[in-house]
This record gives sequence, C-alpha cells and structure tokens, in this order.
Amino acid sequence: MRIQPLADSHGRVATDLRVSLTDRCNLRCTYCMPAEGLDWLPHEEALTDDEVVRLVGIGVEQLGITEVRLTGGEPLLRRGLPGIVARLKQLDPAPELSLTTNGLGLARVATALHEAGLDRVNVSLDTARREDFKRITLRDRWDDVVAGLDAALAAGLEPVKVNAVLQRGINADQAPELLTWCLDRGLRLRFIEQMPLDAQHAWQREAMVTADEILASLGTRFTLTPTGTARGSAPAEEFLIDGGPETVGVIASVTRPFCGDCDRVRLTADGQIVNCLFSRDESDLRTPLRAGADDVELAELWVKAMAAKLPGHGIDDPTFLQPTRPMSAIGG
Ligand code: SAM
Ligand code: SF4
Repeated sequence: MRIQPLADSHGRVATDLRVSLTDRCNLRCTYCMPAEGLDWLPHEEALTDDEVVRLVGIGVEQLGITEVRLTGGEPLLRRGLPGIVARLKQLDPAPELSLTTNGLGLARVATALHEAGLDRVNVSLDTARREDFKRITLRDRWDDVVAGLDAALAAGLEPVKVNAVLQRGINADQAPELLTWCLDRGLRLRFIEQMPLDAQHAWQREAMVTADEILASLGTRFTLTPTGTARGSAPAEEFLIDGGPETVGVIASVTRPFCGDCDRVRLTADGQIVNCLFSRDESDLRTPLRAGADDVELAELWVKAMAAKLPGHGIDDPTFLQPTRPMSAIGG
C-alpha cells in the first residue's frame, strides 16, 4: 500500500505516534494533576482495544508512523495492555513500541509486556528520596516504582530510561543525586523542563527549573560534554558523563524548543488527533469511526489534522493559552 505521509505546511512529517490509553492515574504528581477533583473520561467515550488497534494500524500501515509510544494518564491501568501491545507489534511493518509509565505495577507485567513485543520503557521518577516522592506524587509508592524499574531491567526492556521533572523548593537541588542513583542501577536519566500542561493551570515560568540550571547543578559533580550527535527530532539534548559512555539528557521544551524538528502526533484515549501537545484544537476520529467510516476516510481526516499543525508552541508569546485538556488527558 502507498504510504501517505503525515506532513504539515512547515516541512515536517510526523512518524512518532503517542497513544494515550487512559486519562486516569494512580499518582497525583503536583505538576500534572490536582490532589482531587479531576473528572475522568466516561468509559463509553474511551476507545476500545479494537478501536485503538484499528486507528494505530491506519497510522502505521497507511500514514508512515514508525514509532508508537503508549502513555496516558497511567497506561498500566489499562486492562489488557499486553494484548494491545501484541496486536500493535503484529502490524506490518511492525512499529518500534515503547511505554511511558509511572512504574506502579510494572514489576508484575514487565516480562509479559516484553514477550508481547514491547521494546522499551520510560519510567517517571523525580527523586531518589522516598519522603520527597510522597510530597511530589501525593502517594507513598516509591518502593513500587523502584521494583518496577528493577523488573524492567530484568525483563530486558532496555535501555530503561528515567524521566524526571524538577520543582523549586522540593527536588530542584537533587539532580546530581538522582543521576548518581540512576547510574548505579544502569538507568538512563533525562530531565524534562516543567511545562504549562497541568490540569490546575498553576505553571509559572519564573518557578520553572530551567535546562541551564539543571546543567549547572549537574556540573557541580560531573563533567558533561555534548555527545555531538545532532538532536534532530529527538527532544533530549544528550551529554556524556565524565567522558562517557553513559549519558544524561535534558528536554528543554520551554527554553530551547525543538518545534522545528517535531515529528510527533498524539491520539487521545477518546480518539482525538492532537497534532501538538500545546494545540488547542483536536480532530475527532472516534465519531466518524463509530459512524462506520472506512480506513481511507479516517486516514484522510488524520492527514488533514496534521496539515494544520502550527510552527511552534508559542509559550513565550504573550497571547499563549494552555490547551484546554491537561497532559494526562492528551497523552504525555
Ligand atoms: N503516567 C505516566 C508517567 O508519569 O510516566 C505517563 C504519562 S505522564 C503525563 C508522561 C510524562 O510527562 C512523565 O514523565 C511526567 O513526569 C511528565 N509530565 C507530566 N506533567 C508535566 C509537566 N507539566 N511538565 C513536564 N513534564 C510533565
Ligand atoms: Fe500520573 Fe504520570 Fe501525571 Fe504523575 S505525571 S500524575 S504519574 S499521569
């Protein structure tokens, strides 16, 4: 079948699909969700397993998607996740399949996911200190995340990456400590600048720990040198640690945006195409899918949704407005 690329009018082509499998979560990271009061999607609005596989299949088999990352909310809360993974890996051509998770419950399913065809995991962990984990996520589950990381390594879901967000007054000074902790365990750490995507709309630019600050803090204990490989569409700038071979990454979406090289597109748990994390527009595929649209019609709607992608996220623009839905609903 002829591949129709997901091109926009700024010369970019999307090949990396992030699929949100649920907007629900069992943690309450303060930069992401409020402690309580966030409404979940009604069940009937969420795509079924068959619908997820059909839409991702159109992306992979007709629209040139080569990488699929399963996320949320917390994707491990999705019942039947190994089954979804297995069906996605059977697509032709088989996509690279990865999972972004908070790690809770990963210890139980890491091997099954790997056997089903999952290639890699990213586990979010912001601190090596149990007490601070509780402050950040509002749940006392640090040990479960660590068990999940151990299981991911044992299952061969490598490289196992750790995503960390730093917050002033909590863990902003812990970058070197967390990096040491990760290096000791063979985990690849990447810091992510905090973005205005929280459900509470409480993000403040001045409060954000910047990439420059993170690098300066790491520089107090490590010698970092850029790996020299072009960042391209990969959002993380990678640095060799003390000459390598280990590396650490910084994803500076706010202070060093990489929109010009973006190759991503998102499918929400309720079947909307979101062409940028910061887009305020969504394109509905669920309604036509449930009304009987065929694959060609759905592919055309998807292509149209991508063509309208804006050149950048515009966070620095005085008129910037956060998207209506938080990252947990769009798919982080
Ligand atoms: N629940 C899973 C997890 O935490 O990995 C997957 C979804 S979560 C939204 C995906 C990633 O987004 C996590 O690494 C999380 O730390 C990050 N994240 C959430 N809110 C963020 C924000 N406001 N700014 C930057 N990163 C954020
Ligand atoms: Fe849940 Fe992930 Fe958001 Fe934390 S960052 S509240 S684990 S969705």
